Amino acid sequence: MQSLVTQEFAIRFGQRPTFIVRAPGRVNLIGEHTDYNDGFVLPMAIDRAMWIALRPRDDRHVVLHSLDFPEVGGFSLHEISHGRAWDEYLRGMAWGLQEASYTLNGWEGVLGSDIPVGAGLSSSAALEMVTAMAFSAVGGWEFIPDIMAKIGQKAENEWVGANTGIMDQMISASGQVDHALLIDCRDLSTRHIPLPTKATVVILDTTTRHTHTDSGYNERREQCEAAARFFGVSHLRDVALKEFKDRSANLDELIRRRARHIISENERVLKAAQALSKGDAVEMGKLMNESHTSMRDDFEITNAELNIMVQAAQAQPGCFGARMTGGGFGGCAVALVHEDAVGAFVENVHASYAETTGLDPKIYLCKATNGAEVVHRN
Ligand code: ADP
Ligand code: MG
Repeated sequence: MQSLVTQEFAIRFGQRPTFIVRAPGRVNLIGEHTDYNDGFVLPMAIDRAMWIALRPRDDRHVVLHSLDFPEVGGFSLHEISHGRAWDEYLRGMAWGLQEASYTLNGWEGVLGSDIPVGAGLSSSAALEMVTAMAFSAVGGWEFIPDIMAKIGQKAENEWVGANTGIMDQMISASGQVDHALLIDCRDLSTRHIPLPTKATVVILDTTTRHTHTDSGYNERREQCEAAARFFGVSHLRDVALKEFKDRSANLDELIRRRARHIISENERVLKAAQALSKGDAVEMGKLMNESHTSMRDDFEITNAELNIMVQAAQAQPGCFGARMTGGGFGGCAVALVHEDAVGAFVENVHASYAETTGLDPKIYLCKATNGAEVVHRN
């Protein structure tokens, strides 16, 4: 991808880029829908990323060509208006940075990505973070991961209008090679957690997609808020599993199941971080399996294809565990697989899923990479 954006830059601008920046997509290993409940998540930055090759401009315009979309992205920093194309995330990021009193300079360049769009690997957060990194490189100011993540979330919530938590931007901004990132979504404190050396993270894309008109995500948020009100806390993070068991008898049955997922999932994330810190892939896998069951039965955010995929994965020898990942209602599952078994795993899961669903799944073997960075400067 680096060479693709460099070549395209040379064709369009007749020289080598001044900067090349990248920001990765992510996969969440465990901790789903816990972020907006002020809880814990454990994502990793993957070796699929957004790349921008760019050079500064003398004026305050941003112009960006995407290798994947025909419309040229761009806007004036003097007055950022809403567009209708893929560059909404850039506009939102520029708006958010200026709202936060950053002084922005213009630039132009080429964007390339190998993060599949809308698959739940967070191409949108990667686009926000790579945009922030481009502005930081051109402006000469420091890219501070948590601050950039917060501005990215604000851009996504308030500018683009997608109601999402902070996880995606945090991991895209601050991932570390060979590590997952335990994030406390309350205070944004983080801990890098080493991944098991003999296990491979496999992303299993069902190729089914949630739609942006899905009300499921917002409905889950409202149900979690209702549960928090019942317990008299601001967020479900503040309810321990024991307290939940003691006090939830009078809670509406549906809300009770929703809350049980969040509260048990928070515990699983902390146990997962512990397991990984000890190099215990078996325990990690068990927690992933339990997480899937909780999302399927209590939180009800899986679809038939995700369940079929996860079942196929869990049935393979050498699979430590598997679960759906991301917002749900479609998208990807993630599995942790012994490195010696990965070849057969991919082949068998592919065949089994294709046979049952008639769909052609996409399967990616992933390595944990660094978060947003400048990879080249002239
Ligand atoms: P995801 O699950 O991948 O984050 P979203 O719907 O949140 O899905 O974000 C996808 C959006 O990100 C696209 O609609 C587009 O605006 C932008 N995007 C993703 N990939 C590219 C790309 N290669 N070039 C330009 N814009 C992109
Ligand atoms: Mg997104």
